Amino acid sequence: MQGSRFCIFDQMKHDTTKHQGKRRRLADLLAEKGIKDSLVLDAIATIPRHLFLDSSFEDHAYQDKAFPIGAEQTISQPYTVAFQSEKLEVKPGMRVLEIGTGSGYQTAVLCHMGAVVYSIERQHELFRTSLKRLPALGYKPKKLIFGDGYKGFAEQAPYDRIIVTAGAPMIPEALLAQLTVAGKMVIPVGEKQQKMTIITRTSNADFEQLVLGDFRFVPLLGDKN
Ligand code: SAH
Repeated sequence: MQGSRFCIFDQMKHDTTKHQGKRRRLADLLAEKGIKDSLVLDAIATIPRHLFLDSSFEDHAYQDKAFPIGAEQTISQPYTVAFQSEKLEVKPGMRVLEIGTGSGYQTAVLCHMGAVVYSIERQHELFRTSLKRLPALGYKPKKLIFGDGYKGFAEQAPYDRIIVTAGAPMIPEALLAQLTVAGKMVIPVGEKQQKMTIITRTSNADFEQLVLGDFRFVPLLGDKN
């Protein structure tokens, strides 16, 4: 497996002061772009994003850009990760459900913020890689699930927070049902382009919706795609 992107223990040796400097500058850039939550900025400044990417992207990993992660998917742009994480208002100990584990980078951000994280991925290759990568880098999500995020993960519901990291054509009913009262979901809604949408469950039957700016995500895919 020498040189393969799955050789995580080899990659771990390659976190240097140069990488650390680059990610501190990335956190500063995100602060300039308006991110205020110190837990989020600290996560960006600490987590070795280059180890969530193929080594061919190593020199670019701390640019504020999305990159391919295989299976036609992308790691989200750091600004998007920071924006969603800030809007999620995570407090240590909260139970958070993530839809779209992908590279596991956002999962690591949530773990760093002290959340108890459940994360679902439908691409087996990405699921398998994150299953090895996250513990190898010291991140311990409560559970990584291979499955369809449209359905959520009812076994461990309800969740204080739900974050969807793929563009949803509509808001999945199952996810609304798995939020605690006073819980929040951050979900990009739309087909080609998405509006970042914040949903708060105000009572058993009531939800409030706040629609923010435009973003571009890979699509949240269902059973038939
Ligand atoms: N949070 C990821 C972003 C990955 S892109 C990161 O930091 O790298 C979105 C991910 O959502 C992709 O990995 C894609 O495979 C996954 N996805 C798309 N539809 C899904 C579904 N219905 N259930 C679970 N995961 C899904």
